[in-house]
Amino acid sequence: MIAQRLCASSLKLVTSQWTARFGFGCFFRACSSAHMMQPESVGHGFNLELSEQQKEFQSVARRFAREEIIPQAAHYDKTGEYPMPIIEKAWKLGLMNHIIPQHCGGMELGIFDICLITEEIAYGCTGIQTAMEANSLGASPLLVAGTKEQQNKYLGQLTEAPIMCAYCVTEPGAGSDVAGIKTTAKRCGSDYVLNGEKMWITNGGKANWYFVLARTNPDPKVSAGKAFTGFVVEANSPGVTPGRKEWNMGQRCSDTRGVTFDEVRVPKENVIGEEGAGFKIAMAAFDKTRAPVAAGAVGLAKRALDEATAFALERKTFGKPIAEHQAVAFLLAEMAIGVELARAAVRQASWAVDHRSPYTTYYASIAKAYAADIANKNATDAVQIFGGCGFNSEYPVEKLMRDAKIFQIYEGTAQIQRLIIAREHMKLHKK
Ligand SMILES: Cc1cc2nc3c(=O)[nH]c(=O)nc-3n(C[C@H](O)[C@H](O)[C@H](O)COP(=O)(O)OP(=O)(O)OC[C@H]3O[C@@H](n4cnc5c(N)ncnc54)[C@H](O)[C@@H]3O)c2cc1C
Repeated sequence: MIAQRLCASSLKLVTSQWTARFGFGCFFRACSSAHMMQPESVGHGFNLELSEQQKEFQSVARRFAREEIIPQAAHYDKTGEYPMPIIEKAWKLGLMNHIIPQHCGGMELGIFDICLITEEIAYGCTGIQTAMEANSLGASPLLVAGTKEQQNKYLGQLTEAPIMCAYCVTEPGAGSDVAGIKTTAKRCGSDYVLNGEKMWITNGGKANWYFVLARTNPDPKVSAGKAFTGFVVEANSPGVTPGRKEWNMGQRCSDTRGVTFDEVRVPKENVIGEEGAGFKIAMAAFDKTRAPVAAGAVGLAKRALDEATAFALERKTFGKPIAEHQAVAFLLAEMAIGVELARAAVRQASWAVDHRSPYTTYYASIAKAYAADIANKNATDAVQIFGGCGFNSEYPVEKLMRDAKIFQIYEGTAQIQRLIIAREHMKLHKK
């Protein structure tokens, strides 16, 4: 199946102008050999040199961001339009859904390689990157605990056409405190009936299917690890209603909505894992997605550094470029330190996932917490270096500052990451 889909994709690429412009023939040769990749070749210990294949992934994503995303980013930010034309191009080029297994027609890249691509896409626009990345978040619970049939059916759809999925866990009354969610699922013959309201769902109005976490055991004394169940719910099921598109501070082209479930019947075949296992599955999904989210934050931090550097070399005060004032040069130096260290944390975290390290959760939260803070710091410093221009929406750094904030909120807030790091640290300390 994979060979067929990749060949079909390669053909599409060869015949398109895109191939000529981006040299995607190379990309797909690289992707094809990615099938052969075994976990041990995903990254090697302290060898910090990227493989030729990894450089190829990075370079294709970089060119895509520079040529296709950056010129459009301001438009999508101003209008809040969903960037479907860009998503379709990215999908055709294999720049999304890389996490999907080969038996579902996907590339099954390691998280390390996915982070290389994500950083580059995020450099272009994190709103577009979040819209793309939400598919990996929606897909991850199925990777953690879905059956082959569920994976083939639902993850396979994502490789057959540029469609979206979403991860529906947060509710109006519960975000960080996932165990506080109120959506219920009651067994009714061979179906479950879902009722409840989800909030802040990325791709909420664009998804063809949702991963939904619901309470199946009403007894409040039952632990979270046994009380919740994860389902795949098709978006066109009767009773599923996406709410209005939310107008957020940043990442405005990403589609964020509430989604209501009113007497929605879901066949028992769509239970992910087993009844009662949903909470652990929903949390385990973050081990796969937090490093890529952190990579997105690094992309934004690097963009802020590059924009600020170019401006500081151009803008003169007191007879010299502002980059030559030590106070500004040191700001740039601090920004560079942040990018390098956050990227190193992302690589450590993604290497840990790919090697099934017992420290995966620990490193994933460190990378996510640190990179999110660096994205915010760098965006703020870039605005500072731009002076009055930094405060103006005609210049790119104001958008970076608005876009950066969400990295400290979604997929676990800055505070929740620290709770996780402290918990994992204590476990290690007691060993
Ligand atoms: C743009 C956007 C996209 C999103 N996409 C998705 C999605 O696709 N799917 C999904 O399920 N959710 C999504 N979310 C929801 C997101 O994950 C939650 O907003 C986030 O987890 C925080 O939950 P909350 O908003 O309920 O805040 P709360 O949990 O109410 O937290 C409020 C504040 O209290 C702090 N706090 C809470 N508990 C503690 C504690 N124990 N110790 C210390 N501090 C604490 C938090 O850090 C935060 O600062 C998205 C949110 C946004 C804004």
